[in-house]
Amino acid sequence: MNAISGIFKKFIDWVNKDIPYEDESKQVCVTIRVFELIMVLYFAIFSVLTLIFWDISGVWLALPWMLLAIFCLACTYRLRTRVVFHIFSVINMLWIFITIRNFGWDVGVQHFLFPILLISFFATYGNFRGKLIYTVAVFAFRLFLFLYTRTAVAVHPLARHVEICFQLFNMVSIFSIMFYDCWSLSQTTKAAEEKLAFYNKRLHQEARTDALTGLWNRRSMMEYLESHVRSNSEEFLTVAIGDIDFFKRVNDTRGHNCGDEVLRQLGKLFADFMREKGVVCRWGGEEFFFVFPGNGDSGHFHVEALRAKIAALSITDPETKEMFHVTMTFGVEEYDFNCSVTELIRRADDKLYLGKDQGRNRTVY
Ligand code: GH3
Ligand code: MG
Ligand code: MG
Repeated sequence: MNAISGIFKKFIDWVNKDIPYEDESKQVCVTIRVFELIMVLYFAIFSVLTLIFWDISGVWLALPWMLLAIFCLACTYRLRTRVVFHIFSVINMLWIFITIRNFGWDVGVQHFLFPILLISFFATYGNFRGKLIYTVAVFAFRLFLFLYTRTAVAVHPLARHVEICFQLFNMVSIFSIMFYDCWSLSQTTKAAEEKLAFYNKRLHQEARTDALTGLWNRRSMMEYLESHVRSNSEEFLTVAIGDIDFFKRVNDTRGHNCGDEVLRQLGKLFADFMREKGVVCRWGGEEFFFVFPGNGDSGHFHVEALRAKIAALSITDPETKEMFHVTMTFGVEEYDFNCSVTELIRRADDKLYLGKDQGRNRTVY
């Protein structure tokens, strides 16, 4: 059992093997490989059927085409997709013509043109003109075959029951090829859609968060505030702006790297602290913005608790491994259900600067 699954896996790997050109996707070549593998099987079964219904001549009719199908298969491992596709379509169109010439229109091999047309749409990628030219060429070829069979009789006319048997056989082969082609195409589309959805989500997330701290950015906070004001909610809301005291000194004495580390550590502290209390964002530079549901008194209480936690936070200088502390000044303002978001922020900001003037490391409410 294991040996069979091993061989099957090797076979699948062989069919799916990448092509030697890095600038091309293997998809078209894999589709052509599957088509040609089905055709090799087709010619083998065709030989058996002709031996049953006709004589040995059927085998000689099928053998060259089987060899050409194997040749085309081999080309998919070596040549450029475009070249492979041209070889593939010429061989198969020639086979369709010869078979129709031999056995007539009713055996139905002209329907193999549909999977060929479908593959041409993969092979020409984004080239609309190429797709159009192929569609017109395949249509013209089919029309030619149709008109040809109206005027010429088959070289080897088949008995009615044999013809039906071949027709059914061709139908099964074409549907098998179409099934694989459509499945493969839908898989690619699905994979592309999933990839796109993933990148969209990531892009959306990146546009909403601050890269250094992972907190919301100013834009997300503005959206949040605007939507609260628009909702005409009757819930109290308190905002606070916090600014790190003498942050420039940290940068100047310990380096910009250490300054970044302070922002990261504080960002982590704020995210933990605010988890069940409200929302926080990096407002810009070394300023952070907080929103607490509830009145100004409860907001002020939370900010004071936070200020104590900030002062107690030990930060390690990444260079010297020295421990140090920072403090912050806050301006707190309760939303009065009247003013605009801009006005609310301005009032909180004014209070922050009052706090700075009064000596820093304090909350002005
Ligand atoms: P004050 O107490 O008055 O707020 O003093 P301060 O030194 O904190 O204020 P100032 O506005 O003079 O300096 C803020 C500094 O923050 C200046 C800027 O270089 C630094 N800064 C802003 N964004 C970043 C950042 O992302 N990383 C680092 N390392 N520094 C930043
Ligand atoms: Mg500042
Ligand atoms: Mg500052």
